[in-house]
Amino acid sequence: MDLSTSIENIPRIGPTYQKKLKKLGIKTLRDLLFHFPHRYDDFSKIVPIAEVKVGEVCCILGKVLKIETSRTWKKRMFLTQAIVEDKTGAIKVVWFNQPYLTNTIKEKDTLCLAGKVVRGEDGLYLSNPAREKITDKKELSGFTHTGRLVPVYPETEGLSSRWLRYIIKPLLIKLKDKIQDPIPPDIRQKYKLMELTKALWQIHFPSSKALAKKAQERFAFEELFLIQLSVLKERQKIAQQKAIAIPINIELIKEFINSLPFTLTGAQKKCVWQILKNMEKPHPMNRLLEGDVGSGKTVVATIAALNVTKAGYQVAFMAPTEILAKQHFQEITKLLADFKLNIGLLTGKTDKFVSKKLKEIIEISRKKILEKTANGEIDILIGTHALIQDKVKFKNLALVILDEQHRFGVEQRAKLLNPTKQTEIQAIPHLLSMTATPIPRTLALSIYGDLDLSLLDEMPKGRKKIITKVVSPANRQKAYDFVRKQIKKGGQAFVICPRIESQNQDLEKITSSRLTKKKRAILSWAEVKAVKEEYEKLSKEIFPDLKVGMLHGKMPSKEKERIMNDFKNKKIDILVSTSVVEVGVDVPDATVMIIEGAERFGLAQLHQFRGRVGRSKYQSFCFLFTDSPAKKTRQRLKALVESEDGFALSEKDLKIRGPGNLSGTRQWGIPDLAMSALTDIFLVEKTKKIAKEILERDPNLEKHPILRKKLEDFRKRIHLE
Ligand code: ADP
Ligand code: MG
Repeated sequence: MDLSTSIENIPRIGPTYQKKLKKLGIKTLRDLLFHFPHRYDDFSKIVPIAEVKVGEVCCILGKVLKIETSRTWKKRMFLTQAIVEDKTGAIKVVWFNQPYLTNTIKEKDTLCLAGKVVRGEDGLYLSNPAREKITDKKELSGFTHTGRLVPVYPETEGLSSRWLRYIIKPLLIKLKDKIQDPIPPDIRQKYKLMELTKALWQIHFPSSKALAKKAQERFAFEELFLIQLSVLKERQKIAQQKAIAIPINIELIKEFINSLPFTLTGAQKKCVWQILKNMEKPHPMNRLLEGDVGSGKTVVATIAALNVTKAGYQVAFMAPTEILAKQHFQEITKLLADFKLNIGLLTGKTDKFVSKKLKEIIEISRKKILEKTANGEIDILIGTHALIQDKVKFKNLALVILDEQHRFGVEQRAKLLNPTKQTEIQAIPHLLSMTATPIPRTLALSIYGDLDLSLLDEMPKGRKKIITKVVSPANRQKAYDFVRKQIKKGGQAFVICPRIESQNQDLEKITSSRLTKKKRAILSWAEVKAVKEEYEKLSKEIFPDLKVGMLHGKMPSKEKERIMNDFKNKKIDILVSTSVVEVGVDVPDATVMIIEGAERFGLAQLHQFRGRVGRSKYQSFCFLFTDSPAKKTRQRLKALVESEDGFALSEKDLKIRGPGNLSGTRQWGIPDLAMSALTDIFLVEKTKKIAKEILERDPNLEKHPILRKKLEDFRKRIHLE
């Protein structure tokens, strides 16, 4: 048995548990041992029974005098009661609905118990304690579920911490001395890192809190070290790959910039320059353009595209939804109207085309679009996932632009970047990924470094501040009255609904990559339901005099498009929508954004919704509806009232909600431990330096085979965009 052993071949894990583990993404022994506890219950102090205190969680050690299970009359549940005695006294112990306990626990057994001490009608008792039978064998490995710092795992998919402890502990004992540490000994010594086997033991079954922390530090170091090695290796690889070098056409770019109805911000100019400089090299660019909603990413990308097309090559521009693709098509055709380019739109449903001669949008057949793309007639092809289909061939694709990059999978990206997609040349296209989900600056820099990251950290001038208010239930009507007034003045409103609370709260905690198909279906169903109910309420009760529309992800795309267009054309006053439905869409007259159940969204996400309004010359408003009286919620929402800076808000989100909930980073697959560490600038810099040093000495890690193997596995698991 070694770390790559599949869980099917691990003793004591039956088919049901195999399935549950797989749902968590745990497939091998390695995955299992690296499924770390998220906290520890401190049961390390064993208290004499005479000294237990009411209301406290106590751990006792004693002999069972009596144990029996009965059925309660009223509630029809099983009640297991025992009396346990030590040298100082005896106490009653009660378990609810665990009748099987009487099969395993017998009189005269020695038990260690940890649970809350409660005062009952006939004296104190220990309520539903964690328990552990003490046999002689115990001496070997000590306590597991009680009498120590007990690991508590993030419990999901019906896997209890008790079960995980029961499985993991013997494995750790068995594998002792068989796990090789990928961190080279000299580095381990120099930076005082705990050795792997010991660290695994200490993170699962720590002897003290300090040692648990040392173990965590080691794993955080390891993850960051691997991230940095991975990033550096990727750079090495790119430096060896060939791409078309695109010369910078200064005259052309000046002409374009002069044709714009506004002047570029300093940040836009900086980013344009970084991108153009990057594409000048004969190696593929892999650059992330990160900028808040409304920071003007499209223009930046358009300049890059223009420069590429005028050099004689094609550009593909992929957006995650039809609405967005269409909007980009409209905007880019307008921006480039005087530059004599053929621009196509290819989505699941529509195929449009702007010819350089006609200067007008015409609909042509899919076949024609594909033909014109393959023979190079189309300079820029904009579209949805439809672009990655095998039948879409380019003549000479030199630049791929991805909008909302985090919404695409690694394979989808790879397909579009595959040189075999082109008929004339066989070079890897340059890649410009864009995101409006502000990955906190610290995180982004940790991962990409300034080499591959362009930040649009300045908003175009003249934007009015959006007035943001937290609205409690008592003020709901006032807000609605206000909305009516705004609409009478010519404005429009969005209402965003969160999904209706699922019964299983845990669902929310499971990261999206781990969601099963079925659960995803439930979630989107819950969202549709929420929208429908809100729509009913608003259209019938609150605004019967206004035109209310509804939009959700389950609608056919034609229908979605029609509704979005109706909203843009002001045939709809108020649009009720799910959070998944396009937030990137531009509706100039929308001046009010209402967010229902605002407490359920992250700050960065709320900020994105808010960015949908405030695009007209009129004052815009954002109302955060919340029924939650919790102080923490109010504080979080208040941050939004006070700040307009998406980057600052996402940093705050990271602090408040923790890295696990950060949107835009989940697809990386980085464990929480490392995500937290990524905000530790010093550790990031340190690991970066160490990674550089080791790769300079040993570029292919031939002298470090264990590390090399580990890095290969890591790169299969982690997908940095
Ligand atoms: P996002 O970064 O969210 O994709 P867009 O590219 O859609 O933002 O730009 C938002 C709006 O701002 C567009 O209407 C665009 O024309 C406009 N815009 C972009 N750059 C500037 C600028 N420098 N000054 C004024 N308006 C700008
Ligand atoms: Mg955009």
